[in-house]
Order: sequence, then structure tokens, then C-alpha cells
Amino acid sequence: MVSNHADAEPPVLRDLHTHSSASDGTLSPAALVDAAAARGITLLALTDHDTVAGLGEAAAAAAAHPLTLVPGVEVSVTWQGRQLHVLGLGVEPGCRMLLHGLEGHRVMRERRAEAIAGKLERQGIAGVGAQARALTGKGMVTRTHFARVLLDRGAVGSMDEAFKRFLGRGKQAWVGVQWAALDEVIGWIRSAGGVAVLAHPLRYRMTGAWMRRLLLAFREAGGLGIEVVAGQTCPSEIKLLTGYALRYGLLGSVGSDYHGPENPWSSFGKPMLLPPRVEPVWTGWETAGAALPRGEDS
Ligand code: AMP
Ligand code: MN
Ligand code: MN
Ligand code: MN
Repeated sequence: MVSNHADAEPPVLRDLHTHSSASDGTLSPAALVDAAAARGITLLALTDHDTVAGLGEAAAAAAAHPLTLVPGVEVSVTWQGRQLHVLGLGVEPGCRMLLHGLEGHRVMRERRAEAIAGKLERQGIAGVGAQARALTGKGMVTRTHFARVLLDRGAVGSMDEAFKRFLGRGKQAWVGVQWAALDEVIGWIRSAGGVAVLAHPLRYRMTGAWMRRLLLAFREAGGLGIEVVAGQTCPSEIKLLTGYALRYGLLGSVGSDYHGPENPWSSFGKPMLLPPRVEPVWTGWETAGAALPRGEDS
């Protein structure tokens, strides 16, 4: 319940979209869980890019805190030539179909990383590939790793500049990837017993007509939720996303998309309140002893 009374209970802190060093976050899975608990978060999903490799460590760390860990993943999708992100929440990390799909994405990411390094090399910026690889460690290689190396080397002045000049679509070191299709990815998530949630819908910069097509296709493919409150959503954006959730019959999710303490503007640890008209995706997940995941297919 939301209340404006001064003596009201503090809001429950939930965050269903975060990253660890298993992909492009800077905290280890255990350090991320510890940081979340220290901020008072009681429901946390770890959703690394195209990998569930951090979930075991995160679950072990969560056992020491009054925090429920939702095992998650953020899967890259190619839909109508665009790149989208679909969160799988409450996935069973050992699901063979999910692991098989994600393994395909790992291979694509490795190949893309080599191609990005080659493009940078040809522009006279040598050795970024090896440095990005070292920074990635055993995790999933992402463009964020390349951006961090370019920033550390002084080749750019900010992460944003790294994307605007080199790594963004159509820029000097852009390498396109054909990720799995929307219905395939939702199929992996559902077969792992998870709930598919469309991540940060407003970041795709779609017109209203395209968003309508996307949400219809997403729901048709078995997607159930949409992020309504994200990292930096302002009230008018929350209103727009609430409208989408209600119009298309989707559950609402909240998530900071936290990548580590380097970003001081993150909403990690801050209240992210879902408008009460939207049904939360996490219903039933917070009860003690609740079975997670709760999807219908596994
Ligand atoms: P990838 O999945 O390897 O294509 O990398 C995408 C990631 O790059 C996103 O998840 C963000 O973390 C990061 N990213 C994309 N654009 C920017 C930007 N302008 N500034 C900082 N990070 C970005
Ligand atoms: Mn990221
Ligand atoms: Mn994303
Ligand atoms: Mn993310």
C-alpha cells in the first residue's frame, strides 16, 4: 500500500533488473547481492546479458540476507531488424533449452568481439580486443567492455562517447548481430519456467505504431510483462508505460538496470513504485518458501 502519512512504513525495495561481472556489471554476483541487501532491497533479480552463469554465486550470497533472489537473464533479441532486450524472470538456470539458446548467443558475442577489435585496429586503435577480453574475464563479452577500455585509454572522454563514435549502430566499430528471434527467446524463457518481460521499452525509440506492433507480437509469442519503472523513467514515461501494460494486458516490472557503483544516478536501492493499477509480475514471489520459478511450462 502506498501512503503519504509521515509515519508510513518505508516502501518495500524491489529491483528486478541488475547486472554482475558475469556480463557487463562491475560487481561480482555475491558483491551485488551484498550491496542490494545493504541498501534494503528484499526482492532482487540478477539479469545478466545472455548468461545465467552468475546465478549460483548470487543464490549462495542471498542465503545470508533477508533477500529473495529471482534467478533471471536479459536476452538479446532481433525483431524486425531491431535489437531488443527481453528479461526472463524466475528461470530455472539448469534448463537445457535455455542453456542451449544462450550458448548460441555466447558464440555470436565472441565472434562480434573479434570483429569489433578488428575494426578498431584498422582505425589505428590497437590491442583493444585483448584488453576487453581481459576485462571480461570468464564473463560474457559485451560492448560495455570495449567502451570501458576505450575510456581507460583516453580514446574517448565518456562511455557515451564510446558508443556515439565507435560502438553504436552504424558507427565506426559497429558490428551487427542477428540475435535469436522474439518467439524463440520467449520460448527458451518459458521452457525454463520463467516469465518474459520486455525490458526498457522506451529505449528502442519506436513510434507508437511500432510499439503497438511490438507489444502485440510480444504477447502473441507468450510474453507476459513489461518494465514500467526503470532506471531513469520520469513520471510521464511511467504513465505511458502504465497505459501499455493496461492496454495490452501485461504485468508490470520494476528494475534499475544497475551495472555497478560507477553510475551515481542509478535508482538501485531507491523506491521504484509500480502504479497500483498495474498487476505486479512478482505476485507470490515474496512469500516465505514461495516456489520460484512459477512458469507454467516446466
Ligand atoms: P551488447 O549487449 O554487448 O550489445 O551491449 C549493450 C550494453 O551496452 C547495454 O546493456 C548497456 O549496458 C551498454 N550501453 C549501450 N549504450 C550505452 C551508452 N550510450 N552508454 C553507456 N553504456 C551503454
Ligand atoms: Mn548492459
Ligand atoms: Mn538492456
Ligand atoms: Mn540490462
